[in-house]
Amino acid sequence: MTATAIQSIDWDAFSSELSGIEIISDRAQVVKLSHDYYHFSPVLQPLLSDKTGDLVVRPASEAEVLRIAAACVKFKIPLTVRGAGTGNYGQCIPLKGGVILDTSKMNSIRWIKPGLA
Ligand SMILES: Cc1cc2nc3c(=O)[nH]c(=O)nc-3n(C[C@H](O)[C@H](O)[C@H](O)COP(=O)(O)OP(=O)(O)OC[C@H]3O[C@@H](n4cnc5c(N)ncnc54)[C@H](O)[C@@H]3O)c2cc1C
Repeated sequence: MTATAIQSIDWDAFSSELSGIEIISDRAQVVKLSHDYYHFSPVLQPLLSDKTGDLVVRPASEAEVLRIAAACVKFKIPLTVRGAGTGNYGQCIPLKGGVILDTSKMNSIRWIKPGLA
């Protein structure tokens, strides 16, 4: 997807599809939540430092994840999943902008077995 295609997205319409789901559009927060520890690498530093998403969404349930995915398909928006963002190689950095799906609210424990959760 080109930068022009991303710029033509109706973000207000996209956001209204996701009513009830936390959406972060504050630019400083979006930039922070677009990155991981890629800066440890002198090779990746110049390649990824300017890559950011346009919006962050924080679903709290599987149903909300599905709504977000469906809206991204409808509006043809790239979707990047992130956890805590502690990967070292830019795996969670959105290369072509779009939506960052932050899973940090999905933190309930489903089951625990000895040595496993
Ligand atoms: C100082 C430091 C020390 C570290 N030490 C270790 C170590 O000892 N052992 C080790 O294994 N790793 C280590 N790591 C690496 C890092 O902690 C792991 O890669 C960690 O698993 C990343 O998890 P995250 O939730 O932060 O994922 P992110 O960095 O946010 O994402 C990593 C990848 O997983 C995808 N992803 C994230 N959440 C989901 C999800 N819910 N569903 C689908 N895909 C998802 C992302 O799209 C991305 O591709 C270290 C990192 C740092 C910075």
